[in-house]
Amino acid sequence: MHYLSTRNKQLQYTPAQAIAQGLSREGGLFVPQQIPSLEEGALDAMKEMTYPQRAAYVMGLYLDGFSSEELLCFGEKAYSAEKFDAPAIAPVRRLDDSTFCLELWHGPTCAFKDMALQMLPHLLSASLKKNEESRTACILTATSGDTGKGALEGFRDVDQTRIMVFYPKDGVSQIQELQMRTQEGTNVGVCAVDGNFDDAQTGVKQLFSDESLRKVLDERGYFFSSANSINWGRVLPQIVYYISAYVDLVGLGAVAMGDPVNVCVPTGNFGNILAAYYAKRMGLPLGRLICASNSNNVLTEFLTTGVYDRNRPFHHTVSPSMDILISSNLERLLYDLSEGDADLVSDYMNQLHTTGRYEVNSLLKEKLFACFAAGCADEVQTKAAIRNSWEQYGYLMDPHTAVGIHVCSQYRNSTKDDTVTIVASTASPFKFGDTVLEAVGESDLPAGLALLDRLSEVTHHAIPAPLEALRNKQPRFDLCVGKGQLCNAVLDFLN
Ligand SMILES: *Cc1c(COP(=O)(O)O)cnc(C)c1O
Repeated sequence: MHYLSTRNKQLQYTPAQAIAQGLSREGGLFVPQQIPSLEEGALDAMKEMTYPQRAAYVMGLYLDGFSSEELLCFGEKAYSAEKFDAPAIAPVRRLDDSTFCLELWHGPTCAFKDMALQMLPHLLSASLKKNEESRTACILTATSGDTGKGALEGFRDVDQTRIMVFYPKDGVSQIQELQMRTQEGTNVGVCAVDGNFDDAQTGVKQLFSDESLRKVLDERGYFFSSANSINWGRVLPQIVYYISAYVDLVGLGAVAMGDPVNVCVPTGNFGNILAAYYAKRMGLPLGRLICASNSNNVLTEFLTTGVYDRNRPFHHTVSPSMDILISSNLERLLYDLSEGDADLVSDYMNQLHTTGRYEVNSLLKEKLFACFAAGCADEVQTKAAIRNSWEQYGYLMDPHTAVGIHVCSQYRNSTKDDTVTIVASTASPFKFGDTVLEAVGESDLPAGLALLDRLSEVTHHAIPAPLEALRNKQPRFDLCVGKGQLCNAVLDFLN
C-alpha cells in the first residue's frame, strides 16, 4: 500500500517515507491510498489478544514493509507495564449501561497523546533505517501543553533523533510546565517563548520553511521532522484503541458482536476523532461519530452547516488542549469523503489560508451530516459535567473528558438515540486539578503540586505516579526566548 498527499495524487510514498517526512512538500497531509478492511473474524480473534498484539495487527494492515514481528516488538515496548499503569493499556470504564469512558491517559504523561507518542518514535526510527537515512531527525514541536511533554517522553534517548519543544511562557499550566522543564534524556531541549501559543506555533512553522536553515542543518547532518498530529505515524496508533474498545465492550457483554456503538470525542485538531472515522471505514460497527468542542466551537458549526469559518474570537478555556481554531486533520476527512479529490481539497485549504473560511459542496455536506454529529460545552457546562459525573457515578473526569460527556448527553436528549456510546477520556483529572476541585465545590485552592494532594484528599484517588514523581525532580531547562529568536535556540541546541 502506498501513501499519497491530500493535495497532490501524482507522487506515491512508502509508509516509511510518509512517516519520516511528516508533511508533504506542497503542504498536504499523507493518507493511505485506500483504507484497509478488517478481515472476517478479526474482531473475534482480537478478544484474546493483548493490547500490543491488537496494535501490531491493526497497524500491520497499513504498513507495507514493516513485518508483524517488528510491529509486535514496537507494541510491547510502547505499551509496557513500566510505562502504563493499567494492564489493559486503554481500559473502558462503565458509567451506566449505555455510557462507557475509554481511558486513554494511563501512560507516562497522563494524557492521551501518549497512546500515539509512545509508538511514533519506534515507527520513525524504523522508517529512517528503511529509508537508509544517515542524517539525524531534528523534531521541532510547538505545544499548548500535552503534546510537548508526550513528545519529549516518547523521543527521549531514541537513536538518531533530537527533539526540541517550544511552549508559550504563560500559556501552559504549572504542572505542564514543570513536566517539561524537568524532562530527562540526552537528546531533548525545552524552551519557553515570550508570547502565546500562536507565536510559538508560527515560529516553529517559520523554521520548517526556512531554506537557509535547512541547508545549514543538512551540512551538520540533520533534517527537520514533526511529532504533531499531521504525521500519519500519530494517527495510526490511535485507530487501534477504538477497535480495542469495541472488542472489550463485547467482552463485557455491553453489546453483541456486530451491534453499532457510537463514539463521542472531545476534539481540537481533529486527530483523535479522525482515527475513529478510519476505524469505522475499516468496518468496525460504529454508528454516529459525535464531535465535542469547547467554546472554540468552529467544528460544531462546520459539522452542522458545512461552513468552516475561523474568523471568530479565540477563547482560553478550562480545556486548553482543545483551544484550537484550525483543525489540521479535517483535511484528511475531506479527502476521503470526496473520494480522493485532491484538487477540491487544495481549493478548500487555499480558501482557508486566504480568507479563513470555506463551505463544502452539497455532496460532502450530505456525507458529513450522515456520519457525524456535533455539539459544544461552555465553561459552566463543562464544570457541571465534572460535578454530575462525580456525584452520580463516583467517576472523576478531567475538563476535556467532561466536554465529551456533556455533548454526549446533549446529543441523546435531542435525538433520542440511545445507542451504547464510548466517550474518549483524554487526560487524567490530576493534570487539571484546579478546575476539577472547583467543579466538585472546593475553594481556597493551593498552587502547584499541592493541588495534587488536595485532589487526592477530596476524592480518595491516588496521585498518578508520573505526577507524584515531579516532587523530586529539579528543573533542567530555564531558557526563554523572544518570538523572533527560535532559530538561534535551535542552532545552539544542535551544537
Ligand atoms: C490533544 C488533546 C485533545 C484534542 O485531541 P485532537 O486529536 O487534537 O482532537 C483533547 N484532550 C486532551 C487532554 C488533549 O491533550
